[in-house]
Amino acid sequence: MTEVVTKEELDEAFAMFYGMAASIKDLVSEPVEVSDEERVAAAKRVFLKGIDANLATQLEACVHCGACAQACQFYLGTEDPKYTPIHKLDLMKRVYDREMSPLSWIKKHVLKDITADDLRAQQELVYDACTMCGRCNMVCPAGINIADLVALNRSALSAARLMPDELRYMQEAQAEDGTIFGADEDLFMFRVQDLQDKLGFEIPVDKPKAEVLLLTSGLDIHLFRDATGGAIETLHHMGIDYTLRTDAYEGANFGLLAGHEPTKKMLTEKLTKVAIEIGAKIVIVPECGHSFPAMRWGAAESVGHSVPFTAMTVSEYFGKAVMEGRLKLEKSKEKRVVALHDPCKVGRGGGVFEEPRAILEAIGWELHETESNRAYNFCCGGGAGNFLIERADKLKRAGYRIKMAEIEKTEAQSLVVSCGSCRMNFEVGKVKAGDTLPVESLAAIIAAHLPKKEKAEGEAA
Ligand code: SF4
Ligand code: SF4
Repeated sequence: MTEVVTKEELDEAFAMFYGMAASIKDLVSEPVEVSDEERVAAAKRVFLKGIDANLATQLEACVHCGACAQACQFYLGTEDPKYTPIHKLDLMKRVYDREMSPLSWIKKHVLKDITADDLRAQQELVYDACTMCGRCNMVCPAGINIADLVALNRSALSAARLMPDELRYMQEAQAEDGTIFGADEDLFMFRVQDLQDKLGFEIPVDKPKAEVLLLTSGLDIHLFRDATGGAIETLHHMGIDYTLRTDAYEGANFGLLAGHEPTKKMLTEKLTKVAIEIGAKIVIVPECGHSFPAMRWGAAESVGHSVPFTAMTVSEYFGKAVMEGRLKLEKSKEKRVVALHDPCKVGRGGGVFEEPRAILEAIGWELHETESNRAYNFCCGGGAGNFLIERADKLKRAGYRIKMAEIEKTEAQSLVVSCGSCRMNFEVGKVKAGDTLPVESLAAIIAAHLPKKEKAEGEAA
């Protein structure tokens, strides 16, 4: 592998990025002037439109067994009953009970209508204290999809203009610029040029037709350049017909994270249209957990018809290639024990479990599984945009501690991740806790184990 970014450069970029992320709150525009009545009306509109027969059944189904509490990092890390997953749906249930349920004609006289203060209090529960990780869904005997219902809560709060400041800033900035953290086209191209110089081959940008459209993210452009560089080097090595595009490079979707439906749709639609236009069969989303559902499940929805491509994550795409024998990796000279973190949206949400394990097996690293893994893996604590919410620090650290305690028990020499948000949350958690375990990108690991001889042949071709 060609070193596209040194450890010192990464550390320096991380410190700069960490400072930039911490100052997001200061960049937020004027508070949104909306009356309390308008906020309540907007939130209720979203709840009432979103609660269909399926969701209504779920809202009626809870048997109060408490199993979901034992699955949630934020309840376990704080033991505060207000963070019990099902409690996060109480406000929405009240709207349903009063206005939609079979007994609404009685309940509307018994239950209080929701207020703007209720909505303000709800903000902490569904943004700071829920990463929509879906672990609680796995244990609920009534089959309630709490994470999806929390997503509807985020949409309701977004309609009421009651998102956390950091996510509102990110959503508004991305709605305007299409990208995040100021990673505009100039910076994107500057990074491409830098990678090109270091890798020693031409990186295709803006090809009019290509089999594969590779996305990146503002996080990778600023910080985790080894992840993007690793994906590019491996695609080049495999001789894949791929392209990056200046009109479709940002995979992050802060519309989805903030719960702002118009921005979510607009961003997904933009990428989907470019992918269709260039005839892509595969869209590779970067090491960015939420960009996977935004494209894998959201692409067809955004354009209103089925799409002729499959969205895959970096770990899934290269992992499948390894499993099918299309990508051979060199055995590592170093005997290393590693732990692997399954990102919630890609693992539990997308079923990508065996692919990253196949990559680690191919290079001969010994994987020590954490106690929770695969579909039952604990979240890193910072998913769904939570890693940016400053006031959620205590909650994020509680989530981090639970997962890191499991990782430490494996006695791994490093932690392998394939999601930039997880990586960021682990890195920040390490700084705050004084932990030192190295955290590595799976895409960078793949590139570091490309067979040298074949690589030279690939380059010559
Ligand atoms: S989705 Fe995850 S973070 Fe949210 S309530 Fe369920 S277990 Fe907790
Ligand atoms: S696990 Fe399901 S049924 Fe049990 S308390 Fe939680 S939401 Fe209700």
